[in-house]
Amino acid sequence: MAGAVGNLYLHPQIRRQNLKLHEYQSKQIFARYGIPIPSGDVATTPAEARAIAERLGKTVVIKSQVLVGGRGKAGGIKLAKTPAEAEAVAGQILGMDIKGLTVNKVLVDEAADIKSEIYLGAVLDRAARKIAIMASSEGGVEIEVVAAETPEKIITVHAHPFLGLPDYQARNLAYGIGLPKEHVSAFVKIAQGLFRAFVETDANLAEINPLIINGAGQLEAVDGKIVLDDSALFRHADLAELRDPQEEDESERQAREAGLSFINLDGEIGCMVNGAGLAMTTMDIVNLFGSSPANFLDIGGGAQADKVATALRIILSDERVNAVLINIFGGITRCDEVAKGLLEALAQLNTDVPFVVRLVGTNEEEGRQILAESEFDVTPATSLADAAQKAVAAAKKKGEAA
Ligand code: GDP
Ligand code: MN
Repeated sequence: MAGAVGNLYLHPQIRRQNLKLHEYQSKQIFARYGIPIPSGDVATTPAEARAIAERLGKTVVIKSQVLVGGRGKAGGIKLAKTPAEAEAVAGQILGMDIKGLTVNKVLVDEAADIKSEIYLGAVLDRAARKIAIMASSEGGVEIEVVAAETPEKIITVHAHPFLGLPDYQARNLAYGIGLPKEHVSAFVKIAQGLFRAFVETDANLAEINPLIINGAGQLEAVDGKIVLDDSALFRHADLAELRDPQEEDESERQAREAGLSFINLDGEIGCMVNGAGLAMTTMDIVNLFGSSPANFLDIGGGAQADKVATALRIILSDERVNAVLINIFGGITRCDEVAKGLLEALAQLNTDVPFVVRLVGTNEEEGRQILAESEFDVTPATSLADAAQKAVAAAKKKGEAA
């Protein structure tokens, strides 16, 4: 099971399942690995922001804590020279909407005196089976933009997760981005700290953007981002608690709580399948017949009727779904249980979305019988290709009718 879930990441349509940490959480982790960060604290009210600014006793920067990039450009990062100003600015930023997310927290940091901005990031490179550590002299800009416009300005080294990031590789990054000599040893320590933070938290991504050189000639992580691998959270109870429920996709949260592997996608065919491999195959064949899946969903082995019903509710809560394709290979999962769950859900949901069902394996006859006798419009299918074709046709018809 764990292996199959790991393979999901390789499927082109599936976003990685992950837990994004806020800037302040990421920077606190970085600090534990010896990476210098500005002093500061988190506030949820303007009065708290003022108190933090008073304690810091200098110009502060008030930073919205929402899980998107480009907060600066969106007006979610502002300087404040006095505690009174900090209170006022925090009042503006708290409650603000940034790319659809409401700001509930601000980070109040000592303002940085920025002389130059560097990018430094670690990302899992599955193809290389190593960790790619990337640096660029063009920090402060989104790295995707640098990669698209001036790819030669990104220097990459690959390090083995068990061997660590050796000094020479970290120095190669520093030389590659033209970092002045006097900063190289500090940079090496930061890169190695970032690498260790990445490995020890089981991250998919750990990024400092920008890593700045300040007026005093020191390097400092002004922004931080860590994305953790959901599949490894069982060994990081402390980190799992950092999940921000407000910013998790609602249907993905419900699915996680029900013990379903679910990922929202952009297409129109809702898929309910057992087994990650079969789910991916189902998605591929839906594409093959000219449509696209609305989700990835693995109901797991031995799913009971109530779990099936929950899964369907989640699928149907997506308004873009024009047809549902149910593809169950009964082994431990019994087809009659799936059929019962389906009817249970249909009775409650009052939906006009067409269903195509392929049930094979354990108790398939009983399962088909249950569906055939029901009052609902459920189209049976024999093979996977037959099911996909029928679902694509039904979705097309529903899409045109709408
Ligand atoms: P992002 O826009 O969400 O990536 O947020 P960042 O924390 O990276 O901030 C965006 C930009 O705002 C940085 O690249 C800096 O140019 C600027 N910035 C952030 N913090 C400070 C600060 O303390 N002082 C100054 N002068 N600029 C800052
Ligand atoms: Mn940034």
